[in-house]
Amino acid sequence: MGNIILTGDRPTGKLHIGHFVGSLQNRVKMQNEGNFDKMYVMIADSQALTDNFNNVKKVQDNIIEVALDYLSVGIDPNKVTLFLQSQVSELTEFNFYYLNLVTLARAKRNPTVKSEMKEKGYKDDVPLGFLCYPVSQTADITAFNANIVPVGEDQLPVIEQAREIVRTFNNLYGETLIEPIGVLPDKSTCKRLPGTDGIHKMSKSLGNCIYLSDSEQDIKKKVFSMYTDENHIKVSDPGKVEGNVVFSYLDAFCEDEHFKKYLPEYNNLDELKAHYRKGGLGDVKIKNFLNSILQEILLPIRTKRQELEKDKDKIMNILYNGSKQASLDAHKNLIRLKTAMGINYFNEI
Ligand code: ATP
Ligand code: MG
Repeated sequence: MGNIILTGDRPTGKLHIGHFVGSLQNRVKMQNEGNFDKMYVMIADSQALTDNFNNVKKVQDNIIEVALDYLSVGIDPNKVTLFLQSQVSELTEFNFYYLNLVTLARAKRNPTVKSEMKEKGYKDDVPLGFLCYPVSQTADITAFNANIVPVGEDQLPVIEQAREIVRTFNNLYGETLIEPIGVLPDKSTCKRLPGTDGIHKMSKSLGNCIYLSDSEQDIKKKVFSMYTDENHIKVSDPGKVEGNVVFSYLDAFCEDEHFKKYLPEYNNLDELKAHYRKGGLGDVKIKNFLNSILQEILLPIRTKRQELEKDKDKIMNILYNGSKQASLDAHKNLIRLKTAMGINYFNEI
């Protein structure tokens, strides 16, 4: 059997350049290489409700925004099934059975959930839906028999939990499900792109983002307000590259061609870093360079987005058709699951 790929994003805000290097670029590449049986891209609106159940409007409003972001970076609904999680009710059934396979202690031990709970200030008041989102994510993956899940690094513990659930299920009910693998981007900075605050990972919920849809002025403002190295005060001071957010972004986005265009006195990033470390290279120069690169990458995405925004009905129609298709596919696998468990009482096929 060939590969089945599934990925998704929570509609809790517009997508940012962390998503772009962490997962979107990989998805578009895989989509265009066509080396798969099926590829699904899911807007995880039900998962977004687990910590936004009291702010449904935020999730509603961002569904179209995330869909616009997908299409503007090149996700093609003719090649992939683009769907809305809440409209594929089979997923909740998978989730219901998997919940029995995970203990409370295990759910609480997931490092990603733990750190997100801390960020959100949840203790024993955590909604069960939030605590168990890795279980519902397992439902999303296995409902389509997906074996490949392109993700950022923060999601690896969630994929690990999915693999455990699959193993537990197969041990109990016989070989039925496939253990998925999380596929990370090659470059290490892209696995967890820091936010413009330089502290946390870039995250919609923290507002430390450069969005794919940001205007030229916003991008420039955000780049120029970044902290670099607090001890690099005068141009002549030696500077630190590690932990310097401008260099983290250059690691993620800069290609040798960018030097020819914007900074021809250097051949590559290693030379620029060496000069910064030695002293004699000012922050304005590196920020101007980063700004030029980001503007070049984001301009075509923003332009395409502005075009697509004119026909939102068309976008909703793509999501409607994709959700219908996803529901049909998940239904077939649900029958397999229930048969394996011995609860397909009316022998549905
Ligand atoms: P939220 O704050 O609502 O959780 P988010 O910014 O973390 O939003 P998600 O929708 O949770 O975004 O993540 C979608 C995908 O993007 C996941 O695969 C995740 O690993 C990846 N991702 C998110 N942020 C980054 C980042 N800063 N660097 C690399 N990948 C990221
Ligand atoms: Mg997240």
